[in-house]
Amino acid sequence: MKKGEARLLEHIEKTFRFPLDRRLLLGPGDDCAVLRHGPGRDLVITTDELVEGTHYLGRFATPEQIARKLTRINLSDLASMGEVAPVSCVVGSGLRKDTPADFAPRFMKALKEEALRFGISIAGGNLAGARENHFYMTVWGESGKSPLVTRYGAKPGDLLLNVGPLGQAAAGLEILMKGSAAQKKKFPGLVKAFWLPEPLMAAGALIGRRALASAMLDNSDGLARSAAIIAELSRCRVLVSVGEGACAPELRAYSALKKLPWRHYAVNGGEDYGLVFTTPAAKLAAVKKLLPAAFVVGRLEKGSGAVIENFNGKVKSFEHF
Ligand SMILES: [Mg+2]
Repeated sequence: MKKGEARLLEHIEKTFRFPLDRRLLLGPGDDCAVLRHGPGRDLVITTDELVEGTHYLGRFATPEQIARKLTRINLSDLASMGEVAPVSCVVGSGLRKDTPADFAPRFMKALKEEALRFGISIAGGNLAGARENHFYMTVWGESGKSPLVTRYGAKPGDLLLNVGPLGQAAAGLEILMKGSAAQKKKFPGLVKAFWLPEPLMAAGALIGRRALASAMLDNSDGLARSAAIIAELSRCRVLVSVGEGACAPELRAYSALKKLPWRHYAVNGGEDYGLVFTTPAAKLAAVKKLLPAAFVVGRLEKGSGAVIENFNGKVKSFEHF
């Protein structure tokens, strides 16, 4: 995310923060909006898009990859709210005139497969001509009995955890952008991490049901950025410290090849779509028991901002090209 983009988001949140409707329980600024539409019934809504030239390049994208990723990045936002059952979506695209005739049917077929896989219907959408190909989706789900998890609840003393990949998708994008054919073959897991993120629906729901997290978001712009968001919204200082256990062997091998520390990718890399959450230290044993794949990647204290420890390289928040 670029600085200007962060400023614009801040402006959006301020502009739309007014007492509009008491049914809007959570508005701009979190992973999802939450709307009460009946006693104890909350609708959880989010939207996201993929733009050619911003999120991917046409030369390395198939319609199937775009459809799958679009669905998954949207569902990932639902997962990051805790116990949410996905319900439905609307989807739209703008397509250039020179788009091959088989593109749209292939995109729709893959979209339908994804909808079936994740148990959502496709309720409608829009199609337009455009100068750049782009694809967008709005997805919604229903909350369960447990309270939803926002980005606001972390406290000094809490631990920062991540479940899911760290840095793999950014390494995969790098390989797709400028890697050799041999590298694409050697690191299929990294390329897959970029194109086929797994929305952690079960992990998110478990965290929500068992009240394991004080704050949570999905890791879309890199761990450094996720930590900075929690720091800002929960009014804490976040000390990020990523241990070896959080690094996939394939990322370690790729980093060695690139002569870069693997933390370069783990800290800065975006689009992993794991869950970053905070938990009181007293709950760590319960978290590890229920979610063995979750790793402590930092801790919170009084103060502000995010500090990256045990990494001497450059820290930047994730930017698309
Ligand atoms: Mg998100």
